[in-house]
Amino acid sequence: MALDEIIISRAIIDRYYEKLTSCLSSDVAIVGGGPSGLVAGYFLAKAGKKVALFERKLSVGGGMWGGGMLFNEIVVQEEALRILDIFGVRCKQYDDHHYTADAIETVATITGMAVRTGLTIFNCISVEDVMMRQDKVEGLVINWSPVEMAGLHVDPLTVRAAYTIDTTGHDTEVVKVVARKMAGTLDTPTGGIGGEKSMWAERAESDTLKNTREIYPGLYVAGMAANATAGGPRMGPIFGGMLLSGEKVAGELIQRL
Ligand SMILES: Cc1cc2nc3c(=O)[nH]c(=O)nc-3n(C[C@H](O)[C@H](O)[C@H](O)COP(=O)(O)OP(=O)(O)OC[C@H]3O[C@@H](n4cnc5c(N)ncnc54)[C@H](O)[C@@H]3O)c2cc1C
Repeated sequence: MALDEIIISRAIIDRYYEKLTSCLSSDVAIVGGGPSGLVAGYFLAKAGKKVALFERKLSVGGGMWGGGMLFNEIVVQEEALRILDIFGVRCKQYDDHHYTADAIETVATITGMAVRTGLTIFNCISVEDVMMRQDKVEGLVINWSPVEMAGLHVDPLTVRAAYTIDTTGHDTEVVKVVARKMAGTLDTPTGGIGGEKSMWAERAESDTLKNTREIYPGLYVAGMAANATAGGPRMGPIFGGMLLSGEKVAGELIQRL
């Protein structure tokens, strides 16, 4: 066996650039690899759509790894159990309404299945702006997260997507850019971002689904970003709404595409 360091390097570079160039143009670009983004990516890929997910951090999973306050168990309500079943994540019944799952198993299993189904994930890439055409979001402006973290003066690159989903959680980072640059144009009562309200788990879980929708032409919100954009409450470490929101946004986009 003759292992060659240069071939190892070339293999990594070649394969990565195959992925990157094939995603310069896609059906859907997802920003943020939390539970809602991963689930949306899985269902879109399963429907045969070309879908790329950009995650700022080294690992996807967003706020799910740490369960609640680093106790790495998540709680899911009955309505969302069927989503965990699709992925084969094991759940335990806690009482009539609450079920638990291991946070690590949940993130790892959903991520693995989404990638095997066709979702392309780019980690360590931050989305800093959108590409706009005739008042429609048609792509993303991206850069390496380490460039962003170091504050280096390096120009970004651009990828095209027919539709974008903001699943950046509390920070609503893509929506914020649009709200700042196209003031007053979001499809909300004020035309701007409502901002996240204080804890109210039951209300937040149903609002998350209701608020999962197109917020600006070409731009959808899902997961916690949907609630934060609409001005809904936070919900803490219950994750059913996130999973259902990912499924809902994927279903709407599959129909439109
Ligand atoms: C650190 C943290 C603390 C949280 N604390 C609470 C809490 O106290 N109460 C509560 O109700 N919910 C909290 N949440 C959210 C909670 O975990 C959610 O219920 C659930 O994780 C939200 O899922 P999501 O899919 O909407 O997005 P998240 O799980 O929040 O994931 C969003 C992902 O988007 C990525 N991202 C953000 N901006 C960009 C960008 N510009 N480019 C690329 N990637 C980007 C993030 O790195 C993250 O991985 C927290 C989330 C995080 C990450």
